[in-house]
Amino acid sequence: MPLYKDEGLVLRTVKLGEADRIITILTRDHGKIRAVAKGARRPKSRFGARLEPFMRASLLIATGRSLDVVSQASTLGAYADGIVNDYDAYLNASVIVETADRLFAALEEPSPAQYRLAVGAISALSRHLHDPRDISESYVLRALALAGWRPRLDACVVCGETRKPVAFSIPAGGVMCATDRTPEARRIGERGVARLRALLAGDWATLDAASARGADGGSAGAETTVSAAASVPTPVDHGDLVEKWAEYYLERPIRSARLLDS
Ligand SMILES: [Zn+2]
Repeated sequence: MPLYKDEGLVLRTVKLGEADRIITILTRDHGKIRAVAKGARRPKSRFGARLEPFMRASLLIATGRSLDVVSQASTLGAYADGIVNDYDAYLNASVIVETADRLFAALEEPSPAQYRLAVGAISALSRHLHDPRDISESYVLRALALAGWRPRLDACVVCGETRKPVAFSIPAGGVMCATDRTPEARRIGERGVARLRALLAGDWATLDAASARGADGGSAGAETTVSAAASVPTPVDHGDLVEKWAEYYLERPIRSARLLDS
């Protein structure tokens, strides 16, 4: 069987037969692949924990007729160690790998830039560098932006003017002014827009400062809520805006993100 070398981040694994696993891997140069790790579930597997989710490994892979086969794996980043014992880190890491998985189902093309983004996010989670939710939301926004779905945050998507945005429309792709806002658009304030900008730019100084202030629990920067009796029929909270953005453009719900909301 022909062999190829690459490095990859393990997204998920499923059991195969009695002792094997199928590993879904986001690779740097071959996009998303699925490969069999033979004997991976035996106690003395030569792969050890190297092919568990959130691990980054250097790989030698044999091209098979139906499925590729992992021939060798050595650890480049044991990110799982800092993630699996921390519930928040684990949930947010799950959002990241699930988003990457879905994104590559849509792309079907190698993207070293996407790979670097995912590795950076998982590595940051593992090292507890920032608020875990900030890391996963920033990853999701940036990964989708890199794939072509970048929200417009600098000016109203309808008139292009930079006057104060009051709403965010997911289908229209960004912020809207008071004149142009559509009924489905969610209310958003300056703080919400500033947060989205920081997430999209990976502006950790701003995100960490907001997180440290803790005014909004380091999450969504919720705006003033409108009572149920108010005449505005649109959702106000944009706490799940990033999740909805991903769901809309990837045309699939991100199941792990649901857990973050619960
Ligand atoms: Zn406008």
